[in-house]
Amino acid sequence: MTDSITSTDQDPLTYRVITYGCQMNVHDSERIGGLLESAGYVRNEADDTASDGADIVVFNTCAVRENADNRLYGNLSHMAQVKKSRPGMQIAVGGCMAQKDRDLIVRKAPWVDVVFGTHNVGSLPALLDRARSQQAAQVEIRESLIDFPSNLPTRRDSAHAAWVSISVGCNNTCTFCIVPALRGKETDRRPGDILAEIKALVAEGVQEITLLGQNVNSYGVEFGDRQAFSKLLRACGEIEHLERVRFTSPHPAAFTDDVIEAMADTHNVMPSLHMPLQSGSDRVLRAMRRSYRSAKFLGILDRVREAMPEAAITTDIIVGFPGETDADFEETLRVVRESRFSAAFTFQYSIRPGTPAATMPDQIPKEVVQERYLRLVETVDDIAWSENKRLLGESVEVMFATGDGRKDDATLRMSGRARDNRLVHVAMPDDESQRPRPGDVGWCEITYAAPHHLVADHGMRDLRRTRGGDAWQARQESGSNRANAPQVTLGMPSFRSGA
Ligand code: SF4
Repeated sequence: MTDSITSTDQDPLTYRVITYGCQMNVHDSERIGGLLESAGYVRNEADDTASDGADIVVFNTCAVRENADNRLYGNLSHMAQVKKSRPGMQIAVGGCMAQKDRDLIVRKAPWVDVVFGTHNVGSLPALLDRARSQQAAQVEIRESLIDFPSNLPTRRDSAHAAWVSISVGCNNTCTFCIVPALRGKETDRRPGDILAEIKALVAEGVQEITLLGQNVNSYGVEFGDRQAFSKLLRACGEIEHLERVRFTSPHPAAFTDDVIEAMADTHNVMPSLHMPLQSGSDRVLRAMRRSYRSAKFLGILDRVREAMPEAAITTDIIVGFPGETDADFEETLRVVRESRFSAAFTFQYSIRPGTPAATMPDQIPKEVVQERYLRLVETVDDIAWSENKRLLGESVEVMFATGDGRKDDATLRMSGRARDNRLVHVAMPDDESQRPRPGDVGWCEITYAAPHHLVADHGMRDLRRTRGGDAWQARQESGSNRANAPQVTLGMPSFRSGA
């Protein structure tokens, strides 16, 4: 356990959050940062991913991926060595692995100071204090949510873009998914609270928000309004200076036409949709306990494209679910070809302890899964590439970013997202004063298309200095935030959540 550690006004304790998994976790990590800063800790701004220099290291874990256990305990072993040389430091473990393993974590890694569950984020500073004063590990796991976590202070990494949770938990029971066991039943925030948070963010300079939920389009189930999600999208359209609204993840089963109509009608809801397919085989979907079938899925995509021809649609697919036959897999390839996704996150099925699928018969041999996976990736990439090539010569509006805003010094390009969420690398002028800041917006002609990104080598025109760019600049000038130094995030691709 932790020996005494002190700080002075000149030398505050520093923290670092290491995040695994989906946007939910990334957003939870922003809350963890906000809470720790409210309690007087300062973020460790080391430029590398090493956490060795921080006084508090928080692992915000994910239990969804394969080998999550091995990875967590491997990292904790490394931290044991670090802690030996810095006995005053504290280690905390939160997120889904903490919810799943509970006090097993401190039994396996007794040098861990705090284990906090997915519903206990708000308790972290108090648990750290208690572990320090009592010289004993603190484990706090609640089974259900008491306060909606959005009421907690948040330390956002971006000045111009923000996550906004609309619900947590999920009422579905997909057999491959650990989320319902770890995040509990769906809890919906009241629309007024959500809109108040968005307006407050916009007042601070945020111009893009992503509404977050495990299953966003079931939003409202708790308070009995089936159209609550489409109403929320329309209400976002009324917020002045809010330029881009996105959401993730919807579920095909309850994706109703009122949502498509609201997307098409609302000027600031972007023409991009992440719609998890998981499998194209109806037989496998049934075994996964996914209540839609491939025809319904394809019908949704048709209606989305009819309403928004420019929409880019992305997906998640799992290959090698127990019992998946060659014929089932061919069905997935068929649906992928018909769907023409602009990107797909593809996963090889592997056993996740605690899920119903883990004990199903007919687990597929690894080499079969691998072979199907490679064929799927090839198909997905071919389609994504040809979809991207359709944009050659087109002008797209790019909002420059920090999160994926890799500024390439060799080629002088800066990255941003098109309205349809495609990643675009844009050539920058030599004159630094003419370059955009994160959050600024410009129009670019697409000169090259790759499977996973676009390039605009003729630079940009109509650069618009935005309130988001001003907010980023103000942060830089005040030194209050290094918006270019996001907390370490590892694991799944950026926009995957459960549904
Ligand atoms: S995959 Fe999505 S919809 Fe299914 S149980 Fe998990 S979170 Fe819920």
